[in-house]
Amino acid sequence: MPSQFIKDLITLPGFLIHGERKEGERWIFELSLPPHCPICPTCFGRTIKMSSKRKQWIHGYTNTVGLFWIELPIERRRCQACSLTFTVSYPGLPSHSIATESFQQWVAQLCIGKTIQEVARLLQLAYTTVERWFYQYAPALLPTSNPTVVCVDEFAFRKGHDDGVAVMDTQTRNVLSIASGKNEEAIVEALQPVASKVKYVVSDLAPAMRKAMEKVCPKAIHVLDHFHVIQLFTDALERCRKYLAKGGTKHGSVCRVCRLLSQRPEK
Ligand SMILES: [Zn+2]
Repeated sequence: MPSQFIKDLITLPGFLIHGERKEGERWIFELSLPPHCPICPTCFGRTIKMSSKRKQWIHGYTNTVGLFWIELPIERRRCQACSLTFTVSYPGLPSHSIATESFQQWVAQLCIGKTIQEVARLLQLAYTTVERWFYQYAPALLPTSNPTVVCVDEFAFRKGHDDGVAVMDTQTRNVLSIASGKNEEAIVEALQPVASKVKYVVSDLAPAMRKAMEKVCPKAIHVLDHFHVIQLFTDALERCRKYLAKGGTKHGSVCRVCRLLSQRPEK
């Protein structure tokens, strides 16, 4: 592979590419360590090399090459002053992961608009691995908004078992926060993160919503769903109809009153 292409692919400053090889389907770029000697993490003393092991990380993906790896010697070193033995680590190269941090972030970004399953298949990685990276890096990918209009509603984690409360931005439709439960405390918890900036809260008629709002954001204007207000009216009309029917009013006239009340006024 041309070396400029490789340099563009591997944007890890401080490391030098000194070779490349292909093992089966796997392209591996061999990196060499920066020339300076790592110092002791506790006393900042000089250290000497004890042993060295080569470790590989997935670092990128291209359509033509597929996944490619980088390889780096990871050293065990001992401090000459305090005798501490430690493994040298480098930022962006997590020691317990199969991929570099920048690759994990790239995968998380790739998941937006695709299912985790699709991404896992494309990259031939385990579903759980892609899932873990996505949930780790996705929050950082969310647009930072200052929502002033939010809506609060209940939902079920598992229908009939675990309830939750979600707060959403009405403009971007992003979920801003969730809390488990559906009582006043849960609503307070869900509203808390947005409480300082919010100006309007849209919700249903549950008394817990009103109480929670009075606690968390008393200055915000409470907007009720039209749907729920109409429901109140329909219920009232139904009660009225039953009441009149019991009183022995003629069926025809009760029907007429109800019809008139639920119709758009004629011009
Ligand atoms: Zn030391």
